[in-house]
Amino acid sequence: MASVTDPYVKLIKILRLEQQQGYQDRAVIGGMARFATEWEKEAQATARNSQQAALARDITALLIGYTALPDPETRRAVIEKILRQVEDVMPEVLEKVERRREPPTPPPAPPRPARPTEEAAKPKARPAVPAPPPEAGLDAPVTTLPGIGSVNAKRLARLGIHTIADLLQHFPRRYVNYATLKPIGKLRVGDQVTIIGNVWDFGERITRGGRKLVHAIVSDASGSIQATWFNPYVIRQLTKGKTYAFSGTVDAYLGRLVMVNPEWEPVEKDLVNTARLVPVYPLTQGMSQRWLRRLMKKVVDAWAPRLEDYLPEPLRQELGLMALSEAYRQIHFPDDEETLRAARRRLVFDELLFLQLGVLHQRQVWRSHSAHSLITHKAWLDQFLGRLPFTLTQAQERALHEILEDMEKTTPMSRLLQGDVGSGKTVVAAAAMWIAACNGVQAALMVPTEILAEQHYRSLTRLLEGMTLPHGVPLRIALLTGSVRGREREEILRDIATARVHIVVGTHALIQEGVEFHNLGLAVVDEQHRFGVEQRAALRGKGHYPHLLVMSATPIPRTLALTVYGDLDLSVIDEMPPGRQPILTRWLKPTERERAYAFIRRQVEAGRQAFIIYPRVESDDDEAAEEKAAVNAFEFLQKEVFPHLRLGLLHGRLKGDEKDRVMRAFAAGEIDILVATSVVEVGIDVPNATVMLIESAERFGLAQLHQFRGRVGRGKHKSYCILISEGNTPEAVERLRAMETTQDGFKLAEKDLELRGPGDFFGTRQSGLPPLRLAKLTDTKTLDLARRVARRIYEQDPDLSRPEHKALAERVRVFWGREADFS
Ligand code: ADP
Ligand code: MG
Repeated sequence: MASVTDPYVKLIKILRLEQQQGYQDRAVIGGMARFATEWEKEAQATARNSQQAALARDITALLIGYTALPDPETRRAVIEKILRQVEDVMPEVLEKVERRREPPTPPPAPPRPARPTEEAAKPKARPAVPAPPPEAGLDAPVTTLPGIGSVNAKRLARLGIHTIADLLQHFPRRYVNYATLKPIGKLRVGDQVTIIGNVWDFGERITRGGRKLVHAIVSDASGSIQATWFNPYVIRQLTKGKTYAFSGTVDAYLGRLVMVNPEWEPVEKDLVNTARLVPVYPLTQGMSQRWLRRLMKKVVDAWAPRLEDYLPEPLRQELGLMALSEAYRQIHFPDDEETLRAARRRLVFDELLFLQLGVLHQRQVWRSHSAHSLITHKAWLDQFLGRLPFTLTQAQERALHEILEDMEKTTPMSRLLQGDVGSGKTVVAAAAMWIAACNGVQAALMVPTEILAEQHYRSLTRLLEGMTLPHGVPLRIALLTGSVRGREREEILRDIATARVHIVVGTHALIQEGVEFHNLGLAVVDEQHRFGVEQRAALRGKGHYPHLLVMSATPIPRTLALTVYGDLDLSVIDEMPPGRQPILTRWLKPTERERAYAFIRRQVEAGRQAFIIYPRVESDDDEAAEEKAAVNAFEFLQKEVFPHLRLGLLHGRLKGDEKDRVMRAFAAGEIDILVATSVVEVGIDVPNATVMLIESAERFGLAQLHQFRGRVGRGKHKSYCILISEGNTPEAVERLRAMETTQDGFKLAEKDLELRGPGDFFGTRQSGLPPLRLAKLTDTKTLDLARRVARRIYEQDPDLSRPEHKALAERVRVFWGREADFS
């Protein structure tokens, strides 16, 4: 079977080629957009888990947009983004590709262009402190530093460090406080301290586990202590009779005090590993803390003082922020806790400020264009509402009203419609699309998966079928996905281009090349968190500044939403349609699985249906594969557990029409139990399904579990969610308990944020925001401050064109990877 990395190795090679050729979209015949569709199939077929499947989807969407991108700068940013994503999820792929390259080359050319001329001009004699080469700037490659050859450069590149600026921004993950110095005679077990003493004897012994342990006896005037290491090289580096600083935690062994694996360094050097707040950096294979700290110290000493402060001085003073140079010095090698806090505060503020300024800018760019004003006649709206089998909830009405009001304006709408799973966003979007069609423009709805596209297509057809537009033409809806091919596709494309269809539902096939709308006036994006800024932009680009509505069931706390979607206005549906019963959620241990099966059997006998979800598609090497992988489980369940019931199997490796067939059968009640992977996560609507059983539930994040649970409880029957998990880690236990105790998506979102940070729950990767190095999106206080300051700067100088903002504008541009255009 093809390995999961194969498609990625191929992809990386193509991207590298594209980089070498200067982003002309010539690396593959037919262009990236065309390549994307084929590639996605391969990548989906080999994906082993939902994260990999999501990665393949994200990358495909980026590739599809690539061909249409206007300039090499933006293209470069997109390629770098893809490379980062691959590196995040499958770092081994990049290594594979780099290793195969012969002969060993300097670190991958981009993100920033290498500078051979400067490299050549490197001074021959290397001073102890790297005197910056006269012409070299902060973006000089790390190889201009003494002692950084291609091997080290490669290691640094693995951490995303290519230039001196990157190094300066490689911040410590944490610090160990070794600032307390104590005489050896005063040491107590548990002390985290630094001692300074002479080394006078070495020894070694073999531990019970068979490992070699070396030790040194260290003494000062007050006493002596044994220091031990598992690394035998340490004592070869120590010299008897010499004085060193040792930092570590004091422990006891056989009644005597010892320090196990202490940090150490000769006292005559600048102390960077001991006797201070010692930085702990993210590392990569073959790199030691000691080495990186030494390098950092040199770089910080040489470069931090030369940093230009991009915050206008009066503003910096007013906000009480530390100067930039000082902040860089202190964040790496803090004098004490307090200065560290101040340094952090400054740099965190900066990141959030860049973020806000970029977001405001995007909003401004978008709003400076003019859109069709789409008016709402009451009769049109009544015609739609009159056909609904229910009345809108107040929250739905309010949201719809906000949307329709936006659409009447000549500034393009940019609105996020947020509502928990099942809150009824689709019908609101349908109303807006109907109104758009009544105005004689086209509307498009883009969703992340084919299954969802097909489902939306069906429900929109049901809602709008047979309606006639004000100018007497029957409303037409079309479906466009990757599996619509050949003649049918051509016909649909032609109908879209000639406005013979009014509403189009589709996957990212919608933003592919060759899809030309006659007059796209409203673009709707569902399950927004699956798309990034680029895909939103690409869909927008299909029209002449259409109104944009994005919908998300991923509940984000408000401050976070304002940041992440700062370029969008926000409508929230915070009320469920009436008559919904709460879903009873239970966490069971794997040993209790039989109970769950018995329960499902009873539910099916009562006429209901059930989902059973697995984290993986298929496994041939795992002992307990029936408990983890859908394909294996399916056979086992059908034969051994539910021989008399009708089981269906659904996962991402099935072909589009096969998936569709299974989904249809399940929706029609021809399948009792649907065995599936996370493909059912998004938006699937089968009201008769009442049990959602999730195997290896600890493998999924809270947001995802909540999405799964939202697949049941959509009809009039009492529904249940069963989570099966060992609950091996405290964090898993907390997540499972949270699922049991709350149904409120917003509360779960906050919990997830607290447990895992926004990185997981709401990856900035997915949101299209640049990665944050220090700041946390949960830091609402600083976020608020940054937003206020950004607004103020923005009101005075929206283009950041004043001289005092020049440096700031440059920083914002770099931060946003040059995706934002601040000219
Ligand atoms: P989501 O917000 O998760 O996309 P949907 O739009 O899929 O939710 O709606 C979930 C279900 O609720 C659908 O079956 C829909 O027909 C139904 N529904 C939507 N609005 C209402 C309402 N006001 N009253 C009753 N049922 C509703
Ligand atoms: Mg939905």
